[in-house]
Amino acid sequence: MAKSESSSSGARSYYKKKFDGPLCFCKKRSSMAKAWTDDNPGRRFWLCDSHGFVEWIDKEEQNDWQKQSLLEARGVMDRQREEIKSLQQCVKTTSQQATTGDSTALLLEEGDRLAEEKKKLEIALITAVEKEKLVRQFLGLSWGGFIVVTTIIVFGMLKK
Ligand SMILES: [Zn+2]
Repeated sequence: MAKSESSSSGARSYYKKKFDGPLCFCKKRSSMAKAWTDDNPGRRFWLCDSHGFVEWIDKEEQNDWQKQSLLEARGVMDRQREEIKSLQQCVKTTSQQATTGDSTALLLEEGDRLAEEKKKLEIALITAVEKEKLVRQFLGLSWGGFIVVTTIIVFGMLKK
């Protein structure tokens, strides 16, 4: 398992959202943003495109356990983001490999095997459905009959 814990959470200290806020001292309108720093995880503020921080939207600072929990959530999100990235990378490499010789044969073989398995399952399903139909017809489709059929099927499955 290749775990890359060294994600750059510092680079992403906030993200921007379009929202009209108060004017900055430069007379530019600020927009809403959310801080994801260690000190202020998840705290919203007004952001000037040129000067950055203008003013907190969430005046109240989080207490310790809220901060802790938000930082943990940030950690989880970072890890998941990394996992998604490596999975996407994996998919990319796999599809690239699929276009070259040997692995294509392997993939085809795997595909054949899966198709065969699917066919087997389909046959098993049809047989089961046919069996159920016969028993249902026999029992005349009554509710009681349905329960009996279900019991028979469940018992049949358990025996295997
Ligand atoms: Zn400004």
